[in-house]
Amino acid sequence: MKRLSLLMFSWGLLITSLFCPVSAAWYQDKQGIMGTNIQVEVWSEDENLGHQATTAVMVEMERINQLMSPYIDSSELAILNQQAAQHPVKVSKELFDLIALSIQLSLETQGAFDITFASVGYLYDYRNHQKPSEQQVKSLLEAINFRHLQLNEQEQTVSFAHPKVKIDLGGIAKGHAVDNAIAILQAMGIQHALVTAGGDTRLLGDRRGKPWMVGIRDPRHEDKQAVILPLVNIALSTSGDYERYFEQDGQRYHHILSPQSGHSSYAVQSVSIIGPRSTLNDALSTAVFVLGVQQGMDLINRTPGYDGIIMDNQRKLHYSKDLTAQ
Ligand code: ADP
Ligand code: MG
Repeated sequence: MKRLSLLMFSWGLLITSLFCPVSAAWYQDKQGIMGTNIQVEVWSEDENLGHQATTAVMVEMERINQLMSPYIDSSELAILNQQAAQHPVKVSKELFDLIALSIQLSLETQGAFDITFASVGYLYDYRNHQKPSEQQVKSLLEAINFRHLQLNEQEQTVSFAHPKVKIDLGGIAKGHAVDNAIAILQAMGIQHALVTAGGDTRLLGDRRGKPWMVGIRDPRHEDKQAVILPLVNIALSTSGDYERYFEQDGQRYHHILSPQSGHSSYAVQSVSIIGPRSTLNDALSTAVFVLGVQQGMDLINRTPGYDGIIMDNQRKLHYSKDLTAQ
């Protein structure tokens, strides 16, 4: 009897392992790239594929970093900032398209999202508590204007129509990297995954029978969540005044600038956007942060397929139309 049950048990094991490969598991990696935390988690039934998938995501993040970082002198973006005020500079299709999309988003957000914010923004060094003087902000403010960016689609060139223009894709490049990473995972046959770059997260499928639980941080408490959302096959980006900042004389100097004033924007503490594309979530969360509750909510509510949650500067939460309807 004992032998029989042992036999049945081992047959049972064999059958289970035939149908559910032993290496079926979640494969994860975490690295610091693009000045932020990158996290990837994939479900794979094959150990090799699992490792290949997480590696491919990190390789893609580093590729985009080398292409778009303003801190790497040889990046295409740095070369644009060095030369585009003198003559048109030919760039890769990828960078050209992301700049073109950024300009379109400037138009759609009444200039709240503007990659030329960097004309003043480059003078901030949050780690070393440095900011531009009032004099510098005043003299550089006119360089913040996406209309200074001239694109030639045929030649695939970019030029700046003002001598002091600088651009920075910090408000959109991480979302773009996350979308690319998800596309790479899909092409590898992965069906369940999470990819996060700083405040930008995109989910592929569900967490195998369960939704992913994604938190929105409390802007004033690092280890507390303000909201936790069950999400499936969608993306979420959060922009907050706590990501990069320093305090001086009771004022918080942080990394989201109002293109109108050249100063940090103080309308809200955090904005989260939920939608299918991380690239758009990323840019929209930055734009809504600058626009504030009223104009920001109006923008979210008229953008089909996108939802949002804003925490205002009194710490009150505001939900977009479709979220309150649920
Ligand atoms: P992060 O995940 O780095 O917090 P956000 O989506 O919150 O990114 O965007 C902040 C980044 O966007 C800044 O670090 C800066 O590079 C860029 N940025 C700041 N202000 C603007 C603006 N008005 N328009 C476009 N990009 C901006
Ligand atoms: Mg953003």
